[in-house]
Amino acid sequence: MARVPAGADLELDVQLEGVAEGVLVTASVVAPLAGDCARCLEPFTSVMQVRFQELFAPESAEPADADEQDAVESYPLDGSGQLDLEPALRDALVLELPLSPLCEDDCKGLCPECGVRLADAEPGHEHEQRGAMWAALKNYRAAGPEGSSAGEEAVPDGKAGPERTTDRTDTAPGQAGT
Ligand SMILES: [Zn+2]
Ligand SMILES: [Zn+2]
Repeated sequence: MARVPAGADLELDVQLEGVAEGVLVTASVVAPLAGDCARCLEPFTSVMQVRFQELFAPESAEPADADEQDAVESYPLDGSGQLDLEPALRDALVLELPLSPLCEDDCKGLCPECGVRLADAEPGHEHEQRGAMWAALKNYRAAGPEGSSAGEEAVPDGKAGPERTTDRTDTAPGQAGT
């Protein structure tokens, strides 16, 4: 979620217009933005610009007509001669806060394999699963001959027992003879 940091300075460009209903405020706001990137979860700061136009009307005028009140939404204008811009400002900013803020427009997010932030990873970061499989297979093969040669000596003899060895010694001279 993105937010405007508390106590942050806002840049305001405000135009006040006296209209029949009250004061029409046209404002442009530049506010700092802070949040966590929705894709890569990295905290980031940014700037948002919001423009809004709101009517500030004397409160006494509001209860005149319920329908009209719905139609023209206005902020209260009290008789102090001061216009409190903050509620309108807050509403406008909250409306514009990005729901899925990104640290950069083209944030590549996190690697689905290992979770590393792709912007921080070396270019072309990827996991070649086939490569990993081949590597595993090579290791298996590398270990294989030793294992199998040891197996030929140890395992069949162990399993077969003395009878097989005698068979083998019998057939071997026979084959050599033919
Ligand atoms: Zn990001
Ligand atoms: Zn990765």
